[in-house]
Amino acid sequence: MHLARFPRVKLCHAPTALEHMPNLTRLLGGPQLWIKRDDCTGIATGGNKVRKLEYLMGEAVELGVTHVVTQGAVQSNHVRQTAAVAAKMGLRCTALLEHRIATNDPDYLYGGNVLLDHLMGINIEYRPGGTDMQAEIEAVGEKLRSQGETPYVIPGGGSNAVGALGYAHVALELMAQANEMGLRIDRLVHATGSAGTQAGLVAGFEALNAGIRVLGIGVRNPRDKQEANVHKLAEAVAAKIGLTGGIRREAVECNCDYVGEGYGIPTEGMAEAVMLLARHEGIFLDPVYSGKGMAGLIDLIRKGAFGRDENVVFVHTGGQVGLFGYSDYLNRAAA
Ligand SMILES: *Cc1c(COP(=O)(O)O)cnc(C)c1O
Repeated sequence: MHLARFPRVKLCHAPTALEHMPNLTRLLGGPQLWIKRDDCTGIATGGNKVRKLEYLMGEAVELGVTHVVTQGAVQSNHVRQTAAVAAKMGLRCTALLEHRIATNDPDYLYGGNVLLDHLMGINIEYRPGGTDMQAEIEAVGEKLRSQGETPYVIPGGGSNAVGALGYAHVALELMAQANEMGLRIDRLVHATGSAGTQAGLVAGFEALNAGIRVLGIGVRNPRDKQEANVHKLAEAVAAKIGLTGGIRREAVECNCDYVGEGYGIPTEGMAEAVMLLARHEGIFLDPVYSGKGMAGLIDLIRKGAFGRDENVVFVHTGGQVGLFGYSDYLNRAAA
């Protein structure tokens, strides 16, 4: 896997730390729990989208782009990280925010990621829940082009084959760390949404013949749909990196039992996971992705899904800024 063949802008503080979580391990009675700190990628409070943006912006630079266009939910971490990268690179940025959850909570509507988006001064437009957001950003791109700009339209979550290369890169980074530390990784667990993180990891591990099972905990779609999305994108990454034979269907595993009522709607398990990590490891998860991902991991551990001696790595994909969009719910949960 020769990633240097693809254009890249170096943006991340990397390698991110791979740390043991001794207290959580003890509390849950094993397996050995580790955490890959991709919440600390460095730009605008960090997160997994900066990994993808390294390769996306590599392509954007080659195209001579002037204006970055993307989309997400109102509390989108992806929009916040894209806005920050655009600011750093001196590019204009337009984001379409979808009212994906019905709420009048001012913290959700104006706090957290939205506050940071406003501070960065990007153009924000809102769309009702259920809008075809991909079609909308393409239309904005067309309009900008007609005005003489050179837009770069990034799909939601930065999840296309170029963006997902960022997580093939993380597969390589993790293998180097594990080999150096003498750590045999048995399983990797993380939250999966727009599928780029898991697709990149799976394709990267396949290319490296790592023998590490990756489990994505879904935050939105039912399992069939999520696995199909991840597999399709992993195949596209495999084609890009020249992995012949494609991606085994069994290499794509999702568990979508921890979504609750829907995307971005808090669950008790999420609140428990956020508080456990905060109180025992001093680590903050987020309410939409990593909180539900960790809730899934905790529940699966309690159900005996892992051996005591297994080494399980949770990839912390970031998003803590979103906690401030959910202060009311979380304050009540913590009381
Ligand atoms: C976007 C996001 C994810 C999901 O990653 P995908 O590549 O979209 O599947 C997980 N955690 C956080 C905090 C995110 O912002």
